[in-house]
Amino acid sequence: MSTADDYRTALDHTRRLADRYLASLPDRPATPAQVPVAGPLPEGIGLQAAFEHLAAQVEPFLSASPGPRYLGYVTGGATPEALAADWLASAWDQNVSNHAGSIAASVEAMTVIAFAGAFGLGGNLHGHFVSGATAANLVCLATARQWAQQEGGALPKVFAGAAHSSILKAMAITGIGRERHVPVATLPGRTAVDPAALRAALAAETGPKIVVASAGEVNIGDFDDLQALADICREAGAWLHVDGAFGLFAALEPSLRHRVVGVERADSVTVDLHKWLNVPYDSAIAYTTRPDLQRQVFAASSAYLGDDPDPLHYTPENSRRFRALAAWMVLAVRGRDGIAQWVAANCRQARTLAAGLQVRGYDVLNPEVALNIVAFAPPAGDAAARDALLQAINASGVTFMTPTVLHGRPAIRAAFSNWSTTDADVDRILAMIESLPRR
Ligand SMILES: *Cc1c(COP(=O)(O)O)cnc(C)c1O
Repeated sequence: MSTADDYRTALDHTRRLADRYLASLPDRPATPAQVPVAGPLPEGIGLQAAFEHLAAQVEPFLSASPGPRYLGYVTGGATPEALAADWLASAWDQNVSNHAGSIAASVEAMTVIAFAGAFGLGGNLHGHFVSGATAANLVCLATARQWAQQEGGALPKVFAGAAHSSILKAMAITGIGRERHVPVATLPGRTAVDPAALRAALAAETGPKIVVASAGEVNIGDFDDLQALADICREAGAWLHVDGAFGLFAALEPSLRHRVVGVERADSVTVDLHKWLNVPYDSAIAYTTRPDLQRQVFAASSAYLGDDPDPLHYTPENSRRFRALAAWMVLAVRGRDGIAQWVAANCRQARTLAAGLQVRGYDVLNPEVALNIVAFAPPAGDAAARDALLQAINASGVTFMTPTVLHGRPAIRAAFSNWSTTDADVDRILAMIESLPRR
């Protein structure tokens, strides 16, 4: 057997196992009824037996998180072309740390430019692929910290209405420190920051300031007023970072675009691609206006403090996979309008779910449904009632949802961000909820 034959055999096994899983997605339980602890790794058993082991011992206990009714966290699936390109990225196995001897880094550079265009970001925001929005927030805050250091040497304070937990993680990693987070009041009944409160908080602070804005807050998908925040930041001399992990996709859909107007004035922007773009894990882009400062932090060698464009000088990684390929493929195949179609469908599905829950007597905590997320609670309202409802919903296998606490009230979140979700899936979820015994 030649090496090429060996690859073919391995990929044939892969193809069969993948086909089986992918074909099961529309009807597979959103999460398995039981998840055992994995057995010990069977060493040295050969290809055939290893695949058999995966088929028998692993695949049956996977979630259907790339499927149409998994509504936990904010979870994307993988479109066919994204999956294909991701396989190709592994087959081609390029190291996109630098531009030497391969077009891969250049394709990646063109991909971040194409997505900047799609999201309405100006040419002053320079992007790099990273593993997720957490890594993107880290890159952006590290760059902002470098800016603050130049502004006068002190560590910056970080102001936010509803920062994602990854912002605090990034503050810890960058040495800014979690304790320098300044929570700012949000508007009544919302998770968007109160601009007047932000202006006042910034005025009271003398040192360097970073403002973290939400474009798609994770509990209910609310948006900070980015135009107002950009004005306030300019007045206050603050760095504006926009965490648009999933909400930046509003830019693609004409009826939602007004939500993210102003993002082009940000100093840095995070966007996840493994959520609403529906590429496989893991993929996100960190955009900043200051690649020079970014390089001061991430340069792998002081000899490269010039303007060497190699990716390894701009992100935490050195060696990295050809992560851009799946994102390139989705935009190439579908165009902005094709992606906007599922963004619009997911938002419509969220509104349908919210209306259906209200009809069935549940409290929807964000009845305006700003984007793709519904937060709801049983009328009894306490944590025990919420937990019992969530457990019954998830035990059905029809869907999977996750808990939160919103304005002090225990709630359940349902977030739509899968390209393959249909309106019939929402009907099926509502029918399941209807069938639950009421207490
Ligand atoms: C999901 C999310 C993150 C973290 O993203 P990962 O891809 O899980 O690292 C950060 N911010 C927001 C608003 C998110 O929704």
